[in-house]
Amino acid sequence: MRYDYKCTNEVCAHIFELIQRITDTNTQSQCPNCDAVATRQISAPEFILKGEGWPGKTLKRMEEKDRVEQKYQEYLAKEGQTPIPLKKEE
Ligand SMILES: [Zn+2]
Repeated sequence: MRYDYKCTNEVCAHIFELIQRITDTNTQSQCPNCDAVATRQISAPEFILKGEGWPGKTLKRMEEKDRVEQKYQEYLAKEGQTPIPLKKEE
């Protein structure tokens, strides 16, 4: 995982990236610019994962399913067959 760190020194305010394991809970580092304490910024992927019900991922999966079904119906129409609904997975 790539994390953004920001220097707590207001004069410096240096932002840099650090590569850490996702399991690494250490959220502080040292600014390479001025040696002050730098804190980890919330990165975009982490923010999405913590969001309610993973809306982005769910939506993408639904779109993919619709696309597959549409392709199947197009195929049946081309073959001169009556399109039948796909078996619902429940
Ligand atoms: Zn700094």
